[in-house]
Amino acid sequence: QERLKAFGKDSDFTPRHVHVVGAGVMGGDIAAVCALRGMTVTLQDQSVERIAPAIARAAKLFERRHKGDAKQVRFTLDRLIPDPRGEGAARADVIIEAIFENLEVKRGLFAELEARAKPDAVLATNTSSLRLEDVATALKDPSRLVGIHFFNPVPMLPLVEVVQGEATDAEVLRRATGFVRRIDKLALPVKSAPGFLVNAVLGPYMLEALRCVEEGVAPETVDAALVAFGMPMGPVELVDTVGLDIAVAAGKALAGEGAEPPARLLKLVGEGKLGRKSGEGYYRWV
Ligand code: NAD
Repeated sequence: QERLKAFGKDSDFTPRHVHVVGAGVMGGDIAAVCALRGMTVTLQDQSVERIAPAIARAAKLFERRHKGDAKQVRFTLDRLIPDPRGEGAARADVIIEAIFENLEVKRGLFAELEARAKPDAVLATNTSSLRLEDVATALKDPSRLVGIHFFNPVPMLPLVEVVQGEATDAEVLRRATGFVRRIDKLALPVKSAPGFLVNAVLGPYMLEALRCVEEGVAPETVDAALVAFGMPMGPVELVDTVGLDIAVAAGKALAGEGAEPPARLLKLVGEGKLGRKSGEGYYRWV
């Protein structure tokens, strides 16, 4: 922890405006956390309707954090601006992409963002499983891209991996780290590699739990065992929390292209049962 706290301490980067693209599970919460830390945040998605749930979730978070102080809640909400046309990208000091885990869509988005962003704005992806280098080649200047990898749920978890791709410029890395520290998170420097650090360890753990379920052990039993062992949350519940679609993509990236994820996981994803965010996964979330 002390080493993590020291990382990037020298950064004098003071971002005022953060632009987040993707108002889903991650982007919505990343935007909320930045607004809580006093930054102006523009939140982009494909429509206002897609942004509204993230703002509603943020309002609840602000009420809890400001202990019901309505004025403070209002001020914080005022800093979080729905931006379906992405106009904030041209003014932002940091741009964080948190859209679907799809390489071509992300590449297209970054080509657009690079053209609109300020020349010294940090361009960051929150990808869990795509190679930073594959996203970066969509940019005229691939050295501008850095990974800023948050963990779910963002407001609760202090760790953020700051990912250095093969081309990432040292100054970009320093600024990204400075930003992470400004939002009171612990910046863990990692090299671009499948799963970075945390998911490289967690992936096999979660997959093994799903294999136990596949072999007939109830999800509740697997989870109860690991919680009793001391984990804050059982591995199957964790898969539901992360999102089953994300687990499939991450599992493939970690195990290599040929590896097949557990059949029940694929079946649930095929049925649109993606975990907490869709209301059902291995468990029902009502
Ligand atoms: P999500 O499906 O909840 O949200 C994605 C959002 O992006 C949707 O609201 C969608 O409408 C929007 N979107 C898609 N294409 C877009 C475009 N071209 N322009 C604007 N908006 C667009 O996904 P998520 O779980 O928040 O994951 C987002 C990213 O974060 C992924 O890269 C994922 O790998 C990564 N990530 C996820 C987790 C997790 O636990 N869910 C953790 C760390 C990182």
